[in-house]
Amino acid sequence: MSAAYFLFYGRLNDFLPRDQREQRITIDFYGRQSIKHLAESLGVPHPEIGQIQVNSQEGTLGTITQDGDQVELHPILNGCPVEPRFVLDNHLGRLTAYLRMLGFDCLYQIDYEDEELAEIAQREERILLSRDRRLLMRKVVTYGYCLRSLDSIEQVKEVIQRFDLTKRIIPFHRCLRCNHLLESVEKEAVLDRLEPLTKLYFDEFQICPACKQIYWKGSHYEKMEKLIEQVRASDTE
Ligand SMILES: [Zn+2]
Repeated sequence: MSAAYFLFYGRLNDFLPRDQREQRITIDFYGRQSIKHLAESLGVPHPEIGQIQVNSQEGTLGTITQDGDQVELHPILNGCPVEPRFVLDNHLGRLTAYLRMLGFDCLYQIDYEDEELAEIAQREERILLSRDRRLLMRKVVTYGYCLRSLDSIEQVKEVIQRFDLTKRIIPFHRCLRCNHLLESVEKEAVLDRLEPLTKLYFDEFQICPACKQIYWKGSHYEKMEKLIEQVRASDTE
């Protein structure tokens, strides 16, 4: 049997039990094991891992661990290596709506299987968002993030911060129901579908070309402005 020593930095410690945080962990193993495999056996999904050092030399997730190796793992740096497009796990409906509110392209379906989610992430180069570490540990997942919070507003803040998206927010731009980009529409064209008060108080409308949902700067909009304020405030904290 071989042994290696793993030390995780920063927010990678979120995945470890309290008594293993911020300290060198001894891992016993047999045969050829990659750093990815051993890190994940400790609970840390590979898309969260950035720089790796093995005995002070640069290593990768695929590096085969040798007996006596000292492995240091840093969290991936904040920023977005690809277009900020997402695919979200089944339990993240509210986060999906909030991210769409901020203009981000989010695929979401309540009945995606884990395998499907991972495949979509790979095929479309989307970032997989989930709270399920096992899902994020799948080999085909390159870009992913494990949400720490259970609260959907906090989750939005996490995603914006992790992928450095504050400057890329384009509000009032995407359908909350189906992810399509909205188009402007003349008030006359949708008049028969508006409630009397909406007719009275609003003149600018947008429509989703796919599901025909109509949007105006009413209650949705106020909610969205509040969300953006919260997100921007947390970014400067
Ligand atoms: Zn739509």
